[in-house]
Amino acid sequence: MTGSGTVTNWARNITFTADALRRPDSVTELRTLVAAGPRVRVLGSGHSFNTVADPGPGGVLVSLAGLPAEVDVDTAARTVRVGGGVRYAELARRVHEHGLALANMASLPHISVAGSVATGTHGSGVTNAPLASSVREVELVVGDGSSVTVGRGDPRFDGAVTSLGALGVVTALTLDLEPAYDVAQTVHVELPLEGLDFETVAASAYSVSLFTDWRAPGFRQVWLKRRTDRPRTEFPWAAPAGEAQHPVPGMPARNCTEQFGVPGPWHERLPHFRAEFTPSSGAELQSEYLLPREHATAALHAVDAIRTTVAPVLQTCEVRTMAADTQWLSPAYGRDTVALHFTWVEDTAAVLPVVRRLEEALDPFDARPHWGKVFTASPRTLRERYPRMGDFAALVDELDPRGTFTNAFVRDVLAG
Ligand SMILES: Cc1cc2nc3c(=O)[nH]c(=O)nc-3n(C[C@H](O)[C@H](O)[C@H](O)COP(=O)(O)OP(=O)(O)OC[C@H]3O[C@@H](n4cnc5c(N)ncnc54)[C@H](O)[C@@H]3O)c2cc1C
Repeated sequence: MTGSGTVTNWARNITFTADALRRPDSVTELRTLVAAGPRVRVLGSGHSFNTVADPGPGGVLVSLAGLPAEVDVDTAARTVRVGGGVRYAELARRVHEHGLALANMASLPHISVAGSVATGTHGSGVTNAPLASSVREVELVVGDGSSVTVGRGDPRFDGAVTSLGALGVVTALTLDLEPAYDVAQTVHVELPLEGLDFETVAASAYSVSLFTDWRAPGFRQVWLKRRTDRPRTEFPWAAPAGEAQHPVPGMPARNCTEQFGVPGPWHERLPHFRAEFTPSSGAELQSEYLLPREHATAALHAVDAIRTTVAPVLQTCEVRTMAADTQWLSPAYGRDTVALHFTWVEDTAAVLPVVRRLEEALDPFDARPHWGKVFTASPRTLRERYPRMGDFAALVDELDPRGTFTNAFVRDVLAG
């Protein structure tokens, strides 16, 4: 690739096939590049596991790492305007310095804000919608190089945040903030699947994650993140861990955020992984399926029924929840959601047949795949599972009539 040699995603399972990687130093340079007419896709922090970011042969991959890393906090309005290339680690640190906080974070702070909300990235918590729900305004450079700003209240807004990068280059996002809060994290071990009251367990802290390797029918770990400004509920269903834990068996617990109930700032507890270490295992593929929360127990039993197929290629499986949101392409659109996440071994050939088998098992539950992870669902299935896909296609036509920001992934998604 011109200007860079070979470029891969974080997981190294995707080698980008674009003709060139460009790194504009200013928004003016970015506008000129876009208006010149090549097909363009932005590379965020590259943490997606599929070709969503790849413009393909003839296209240009654009990194925003050369643009000023704007983080402008408005303490009176409790908002922050953040540049299109900024990562959560930097955003969270700056927001916290002003005594403010985000409502939630994903499992790692290493990812870019714009790339995360583009793919429906989420944390956990029955009252916490995906990360895109804190966005109040998005600023785009569209195909002719001009700027378009879409804010809450604009009829296009619910298509404009979780947009797979298909509308334009996001140069800035404005997010809602709230007063800073502390979180105390505890990990419990060995929670049986049999007799699990999923709703009660999932609601037992601000953010709850269950982990299993599906080698047995139950959960090895339960991660509870309790806000210290909320009433504390007990967790009688599994014993507290005696030593610090990592969700992936064999990985060092020092890579993970503080446990044992030691209160600390929101951004040092909500992610599982510390910003200064490799998150997760670092040698992996990931898939995730999001389905209506009322099906949680049935879906877990459906995976349990094929666990001898799943376990051999699995490092860990995480179960999280989120509240419904309104972004048309959000995997949590219109429904309170449970998310079944799978960290696979780093072997595409071995993993893909298991992904297909898993998708069959989850088919009865109207499961929507995470846009940033490995999946095999057909365009037709995606169309059936996203009732507002037609509205999104119309928005793409309106904002990107020349197809500057399309790629094979987006064409497939819209083909259904
Ligand atoms: C170790 C690990 C842990 C993870 N944990 C979670 C988790 O807890 N929860 C979860 O939901 N997901 C999780 N993910 C998935 C991850 O959040 C998503 O893949 C997310 O998209 C990553 O953001 P990124 O900036 O790396 O995106 P990229 O992969 O770089 O890009 C994703 C999409 O966004 C577009 N894009 C990026 N920036 C812009 C921009 N400025 N303008 C326009 N389009 C843009 C790209 O073109 C592409 O289409 C995890 C991934 C890894 C590797």
